[in-house]
Amino acid sequence: MGANGKILVFVDLPGGELDETGRGLLSYGARLAGTLDASWGVAVAVTPDSAQLAAFGAYGTPYITCVEAAETLLDTPALLGRCLAGLARDEAATVIVLPHNDLGSTMAPVVAHELGAAIMTELVTVRPSPDGVRLSRRALGVRIAETRVWDGSCPLVATVPLRALSQVLLSTVRPSSPVVTGWHSGAPVSGALPTIIGRIPADPQTVDLTEAEVIFSAGKGCDPATFEQLKELCKLLNVSFGVTRPVYDLGWTGFERMVGQTGRTVTPRLYVALGISGSMHHVGGIKDSRRIVAVNSDAKAPVFPNADEGFVADLKEVLPCLLSRVKATIGGAP
Ligand SMILES: Cc1cc2nc3c(=O)[nH]c(=O)nc-3n(C[C@H](O)[C@H](O)[C@H](O)COP(=O)(O)OP(=O)(O)OC[C@H]3O[C@@H](n4cnc5c(N)ncnc54)[C@H](O)[C@@H]3O)c2cc1C
Repeated sequence: MGANGKILVFVDLPGGELDETGRGLLSYGARLAGTLDASWGVAVAVTPDSAQLAAFGAYGTPYITCVEAAETLLDTPALLGRCLAGLARDEAATVIVLPHNDLGSTMAPVVAHELGAAIMTELVTVRPSPDGVRLSRRALGVRIAETRVWDGSCPLVATVPLRALSQVLLSTVRPSSPVVTGWHSGAPVSGALPTIIGRIPADPQTVDLTEAEVIFSAGKGCDPATFEQLKELCKLLNVSFGVTRPVYDLGWTGFERMVGQTGRTVTPRLYVALGISGSMHHVGGIKDSRRIVAVNSDAKAPVFPNADEGFVADLKEVLPCLLSRVKATIGGAP
């Protein structure tokens, strides 16, 4: 791409915090700029405070553009996407990077449409080659590697899966003092938006699994007793519960609790797979979870290579033990 190339990384600051995803995106942006020999910068919807600015600087962020009034658009990603496209156009950005979370994956097609750009979702690796830039991603439950070539004739919008983001500080990157500027869209993008006066946090027991933060899921390795224990555990921990297709087929839950290719595609901070073999159809729906922990009595279960942490154990022992520990911790009966 060369020195004229410019990478614009959209960093969401949920609750005003530069979280793991944000740090991962900064590390990704710095690395991508090195790979493509391009300059880079960051767009944010929430103005960072001085502590956050230092964190941005640790990743060598050269500049930060605060999209003015964008905070009010966070609930309407399509409008925020139009704003980001306007900024990308003004900055002549050649690559626009977003996280592949709810917000980023909703904004990305809007940005691509507005800019007439190419789009690559769930991008993982980028390699310059004589015919253009080779972009690779994993598809179909991370089992298939797909590579496409971007010839640079139009901008590229890319979303990066959260699992591919690492907060590592590259040794090649020098810390910076980012230059912060504001940017205001010339054209009105929002129209008359209602003012948000408060937010009610979602109840993990009833929230749509696609929005859940922490999910404990039951597979066919659960019997009726361990399944009831799991549901009790989820209530005590105030986390969401999901199931695999065979458990749904038993009629133990509604379809809305089924996770996987036919069921819900989920992206929680933590996914705990209990008695789940790890079929392609199930893993396809959980692969973007930030952290996957699996418990299975079979050490060769395919779920383990897809998990960040695995325990070979019998649920009949694990669940009662977990339940009594949690009850003891929160002050209930052991
Ligand atoms: C077109 C299509 C779409 C599909 N869509 C989905 C989908 O959306 N979601 C989905 O989940 N499936 C889907 N499936 C089904 C999928 O292929 C698998 O059959 C299913 O995911 C397996 O579920 P499981 O892991 O609960 O059961 P199993 O594969 O039977 O695994 C049970 C696991 O529990 C372990 N176990 C047993 N006892 C214990 C114990 N006491 N303690 C600990 N571990 C124990 C076993 O070692 C085993 O690994 C789909 C299939 C098709 C053909």
